[in-house]
Amino acid sequence: MKLSALPRVRLANLPTPLQELRNLSKALKGPRIFVKRDDMTGLAFGGNKTRKLEYLMPDALADQADYIVTSAGFHSNWCTQTAAAARRLGMKIVLIKTGPKEGYDPEDCDGNHLLHFLQGAVIKVVKPENAQKVERETMEQLKLKGHRPYLLTATGSTPPGVAGYVNTMLELLQQSVELGINIDYLVHATGSGGTQSGLIIGAKALNTNIKVIGSTTGSRSKDEQIEIVSSVIDESLRFLQLPLRITDEDIIVHDQYAGDGYGFMTEGAAEAIRIVAEAEGLFLDPVYTGPAMACLIGLCRDGFFRPEDVVVFLHTGGSVALFPYRTPIKAYALGEAPSWTVPPWSP
Ligand SMILES: *Cc1c(COP(=O)(O)O)cnc(C)c1O
Repeated sequence: MKLSALPRVRLANLPTPLQELRNLSKALKGPRIFVKRDDMTGLAFGGNKTRKLEYLMPDALADQADYIVTSAGFHSNWCTQTAAAARRLGMKIVLIKTGPKEGYDPEDCDGNHLLHFLQGAVIKVVKPENAQKVERETMEQLKLKGHRPYLLTATGSTPPGVAGYVNTMLELLQQSVELGINIDYLVHATGSGGTQSGLIIGAKALNTNIKVIGSTTGSRSKDEQIEIVSSVIDESLRFLQLPLRITDEDIIVHDQYAGDGYGFMTEGAAEAIRIVAEAEGLFLDPVYTGPAMACLIGLCRDGFFRPEDVVVFLHTGGSVALFPYRTPIKAYALGEAPSWTVPPWSP
């Protein structure tokens, strides 16, 4: 496989820990549950984008880029991680973020938006329909000024980025051998699909029986998400020159734990965040890992797992989003109706 030959720049502290969550297993009367701490990759506040960036940034370096340009949501973890990688590698950063109106900049500079500001990013907030146009214009303007800007695809789910999660499966297998466990399931949040694609490819390539369960993070249906993951897998298999046969049956997706739109707050996510914080002192986030843990909890309650199963929850990061979501999270914890579930920064 071509994986070992891919250019890579080290940004993450690897391996990330694999820890057993005994209190959570007991609280859920569930299977053995472990957490893979990709919130501890060590870049900015950690998260799954670090592993992708290790394989994406070498191309920008080879191009001798002095600016990284990328776009994503207003409180995007991708933007935080990419800005951190760019800064560490001596580059400047332009973040084109989608918001409810052009130039949106709330008074309480919070969560990832605060981090983007501190990273000295050039921040342009636009309506989603204008993001691509502003991307193009930004690239042209920088070139006219004699710079070498490099455009990174939002969220990094292109084949080099996917390679980061093929590797994660190898890392996880080594850790499972050390711990003397056989992993049956891996549960995680699936968005643009790069993480799930890499994990599924890794599980197949290494001949494991680990079933990778992705829980959606927006309004996409199960079938729509499977289609996205499937196409990322196909593209990545070609790129990695891996002659594997992966079908839609290998792509397991649950779509009933996300809100009606990307980043919308749900009661299930708030409950999951509180249960895990109380049982284990571990913090999830409202957009990705909270809903994904709600999925794991839902599967436990439905009796989906056998008591002897070993389930790994992949913590993909994002906990700084707890703070801008403080109002609905606290309301749910107090058993009250939240004053909002659609975030004010939502486009
Ligand atoms: C981006 C992100 C995901 C989703 O990863 P994809 O590869 O886009 O599917 C999950 N969790 C967190 C915290 C993220 O920031």
